[in-house]
Amino acid sequence: MKFDGINEKTLVLIKPDSVQRGLVGEILRRFETKGLKVVGLKLMRLDEAVLREHYAHIAEKPFYPSVEKFMMSSPVAVVCLEGRECVDAVRLMMGPTKSRIAPPGSIRGDLAMGYGCNVIHGSDSVENAKLEVARFFKPEEIIEYDKSEYLHVYSEDERE
Ligand code: UDP
Ligand code: MG
Repeated sequence: MKFDGINEKTLVLIKPDSVQRGLVGEILRRFETKGLKVVGLKLMRLDEAVLREHYAHIAEKPFYPSVEKFMMSSPVAVVCLEGRECVDAVRLMMGPTKSRIAPPGSIRGDLAMGYGCNVIHGSDSVENAKLEVARFFKPEEIIEYDKSEYLHVYSEDERE
């Protein structure tokens, strides 16, 4: 499935380096001014179990212990964003994993230098976004509401 219409959701983790460096507001601001809708927002401390599930694709890599230690070093801000093709839009805004080669203008390109310390996680596909939103949010923590600015964010045919 390529995209899920105007209600497509993605999961963002604003990582410990962002929380410690006071970048939570800056990162949220970028998503808000882009026109994405914040439908879930909270602070969480992550534990080994949830990280092993979330990072299953790298859990056997030699660098995994340092990723786990880093991700538990401080609370993270957990965000669910909504918008048309928002999974891809957020990945583009983030930039590539290795921050120091991420293009200027991207979140990692503007705000980070690290590989592990790369300020943000964003779901990499619509399918994974569904799993990740369910991993970090209870259903009642996702708040559906109308955003009046949508009249000026999407044209009528894109609002379906
Ligand atoms: N990571 C790392 N070293 C590597 C590859 C990944 O420290 O060589 C960390 C990095 O923090 C990255 C996370 O593991 O964000 C998950 O890796 P993934 O390939 O999913 O990158 P992302 O989707 O976050 O860009
Ligand atoms: Mg990833």
